[in-house]
Amino acid sequence: GSDCFSKDFLDIHPLMIFPLKGIGGIYGFAIFSDKLTGNAYTRAEIDYITHMFSVLSVMIQNDMHYKTSITDPKTGLYTYDYFINKLDETTAIVRRYKHTAGLLMIDIDHFKNFNDTWGHLAGDKVLITMAASMSAVLRKEDCLCRFGGEEFAILIPETDAVGLTALAERLRKTVSQSEVNVNGNKLSVTISLGACLISASERAEPKVLLDRADKALYFAKTSGRNCSALFP
Ligand code: GH3
Ligand code: MG
Ligand code: MG
Repeated sequence: GSDCFSKDFLDIHPLMIFPLKGIGGIYGFAIFSDKLTGNAYTRAEIDYITHMFSVLSVMIQNDMHYKTSITDPKTGLYTYDYFINKLDETTAIVRRYKHTAGLLMIDIDHFKNFNDTWGHLAGDKVLITMAASMSAVLRKEDCLCRFGGEEFAILIPETDAVGLTALAERLRKTVSQSEVNVNGNKLSVTISLGACLISASERAEPKVLLDRADKALYFAKTSGRNCSALFP
C-alpha cells in the first residue's frame, strides 16, 4: 500500500506483484522490487518466479492452516489434541533414550467465583495473561497447552523430581504475582498444580500419566489450593 511504498520509491523501484493463490482464492501478495544488480527481470526469470509462487502459495497456506489448527485461539497456546500427540511422542522418546520427563496439570483456584464477581471477560483476560506469564517461565522445548476451559498442562521433556517441583513452584508464584487490570482494579488469581514424572523404567501409558498428574492436582486442591503436589 501507499504507506509502505511512496510514489518516489515506486518510480525508482518498479514492483512485480504475484498473487498468493490458495484454497478459497487469493489470500496475499508477494512483492518483488527491482533486482540488486539493476538489470531488468528476464522473461525466463519471471516465468520461474511465477511457477515457484504457484507452488509456494499452497505450501505457505498449508503452514498457516497447520499453525491455526494446533493453537487455541484465546490464549495462543497449544490445543489439547496437539498436547496428547506430544505426550505419546514423549513417552516413546523417554523409553528409547532412558531419561525422565515431567507432566504438570494446572487448574485455577475458585475461578467460578472470579467470573461471578468480575465477569467472564475479566476471566478471559486472566487466561490470556496466565498463558503469557507461564510461557515466560518455561523453556522453548517445554509444551504448554490449554487442556480445558481453565486448565493447563505442561510437558517437560527432561527433568527430575527436584527440577519438576521447583518448576511447579516457580509457575505458582509467577501466576500469583501477575495482575490483570479490570476497570482500574488490579486482580490476580492463584493456581494449584499436580505433577508426575515420566520414567523409562516403568513404561506407564499416557492415560495413566494424566491420571496421576490429575490425582496430584486433586491433592493440591484438597490441601488448601495455591500449592503444588508431586505424585509419589
Ligand atoms: P476450584 O478451585 O475447585 O478449581 O474451583 P473453580 O471455581 O475454579 O472450579 P470449577 O470447575 O467449579 O469452575 C471452573 C470455572 O472456569 C467455571 C467456568 O465458568 C470457568 N471457565 C472455564 N473456561 C473459561 C473461559 O474460557 N473463560 C472464562 N472467563 N471462564 C472459564
Ligand atoms: Mg477445573
Ligand atoms: Mg478451577
